[in-house]
Amino acid sequence: MGTSDRPVTEQRAVDVGHWIAGQPVAAGDGGRSAPVFNPASGEIARRVALADAGQVDAAVRAAADAFAGWAATPPLRRARVLFRFRELVERHADELTACIVAEHGKVWSDAQGEITRGLEVVEFACGIPHLLKGEYSESVGTGVDMYSIRQPMGVCVGITPFNFPVMVPMWMFPIALACGNSFVLKPSERDPSASLLMARLVKEAGLPDGVFNVVNGDKEAVDALLAHPQVAAVSFVGSTPIAKYIHETASRNGKRVQALGGAKNHMVVMPDADLDQAVDALIGAAYGSAGERCMAVSIAVAVGEVADRLVERLAERVPKIKVGPGVDRSAEMGPLVTGAHLEKVRGYVDAGVAEGAKLVVDGRGLKVGGGEQGFFLGGCLFDDVTPEMRIYREEIFGPVLGIVRVADFEQALKLINDHEFGNGCAIFTRDGDAAREFATRVQIGMVGVNVPIPVPMAFHSFGGWKASLFGDHHIHGPEGVRFYTRYKAVTQRWPTGIRAGAEFVMPTMK
Ligand code: NAD
Repeated sequence: MGTSDRPVTEQRAVDVGHWIAGQPVAAGDGGRSAPVFNPASGEIARRVALADAGQVDAAVRAAADAFAGWAATPPLRRARVLFRFRELVERHADELTACIVAEHGKVWSDAQGEITRGLEVVEFACGIPHLLKGEYSESVGTGVDMYSIRQPMGVCVGITPFNFPVMVPMWMFPIALACGNSFVLKPSERDPSASLLMARLVKEAGLPDGVFNVVNGDKEAVDALLAHPQVAAVSFVGSTPIAKYIHETASRNGKRVQALGGAKNHMVVMPDADLDQAVDALIGAAYGSAGERCMAVSIAVAVGEVADRLVERLAERVPKIKVGPGVDRSAEMGPLVTGAHLEKVRGYVDAGVAEGAKLVVDGRGLKVGGGEQGFFLGGCLFDDVTPEMRIYREEIFGPVLGIVRVADFEQALKLINDHEFGNGCAIFTRDGDAAREFATRVQIGMVGVNVPIPVPMAFHSFGGWKASLFGDHHIHGPEGVRFYTRYKAVTQRWPTGIRAGAEFVMPTMK
């Protein structure tokens, strides 16, 4: 998805630049830039600089220069910087929330929630002295001991999507920094401002200049990062085609890479489920953040006779969702991020109708008072969705929920396991056997039992299977520590140990 292709009626100066070596860096003359919209009004709010290879090189070199000093800083002192960063984020939470709401469009309380989930990762990273403890084996041979440690990788890069401009960067950089790496963040060009505020706060927390850098940009900046010889590791979160490209390109260039992609999350509603609970869960999980979450539920799988009751209840509830600008504290759902994305999501609704799904609630005609030019779409609900349809196969990333009717549990499970994506899923049931069977056999990375959005806590790790993640590591939590460190095993013998003379066979311990 690109930025909106709506006509640009106003020319503005480029007011969002980069952050390199502990200083804000202005866009410079003549460089490329992109509009950043206020999704609630449809207006261009500011323009963001799009870095070229030279600016990317300056950021990577700043990070490379700062790496050795930071890596040699004791983990306890690194953790203390993160403790102070945590305090500063809390103190500036309203400012960060306002950034998210202004550029992403999500509602205020949801933006606050994303900051809290990000802070949980910072809190986890504050435990880094404990997390980096290695293992020690005494006397692996006579007079020989062995230990293993984890050391930082070097310059790590984070490339992040528009939908969580604070939380997703915080899935990455607090752990990377705690492990002793330096970092270059390339945030989404659609909502870039929160990253620059985080850069200011992490400096204020005492992080040495150059350890954390932000380059704004698009494909040109990303390609320069992927090719840069001083970049050691790349974390990516975004759509599946780009995740695949990042994984292939960065791997080919010899970098460690984790690339998290898109999703199509199913929620199975069994006939014995608590229907009130299931309906509440679906409303929040399908329409919260206007469906622009990688863990949004976009398909409800209705098992057996529950389908009619479920559709009836959802059809009553969806039109009552209060849609409005994110700054309206009573709004439950905000606009989509750009005009281009709004058109894409509308296109999917049109396609669903054309393919023969039954549009039970049509949000396309929604009017939001005062936000006529905003990128609003009301909640849409499809019944009778089938696996061949595009609205079933592809990620829509909007407030559109489809219902697939199946006869029994086995059909529900097969449906999910046959899908290309494998990010999250959930089952709603009162039957422990069914829930256990589901959690064991489903081919999905994150599973909820009567929990619609099973986002793992910061001290576990987040990640999908199949086309939802390319690479070997899930993100944050213990997997994050493994991703951002290299394993080293040291075997030591001191001169007082047995002298064996030169050995020409494969060494074995005596
Ligand atoms: P996107 O793939 O368009 O962009 C993600 C990042 O990649 C941005 O920084 C962007 O500038 C960059 N990018 C875009 N096109 C590129 C190209 N051709 N070459 C190199 N870099 C490019 O994703 P988005 O629209 O910002 O975010 C929404 C997507 O992210 C959805 O698919 C959603 O499911 C996914 N997402 C996944 C997770 C997860 O944990 N799996 C979490 C959040 C979002």
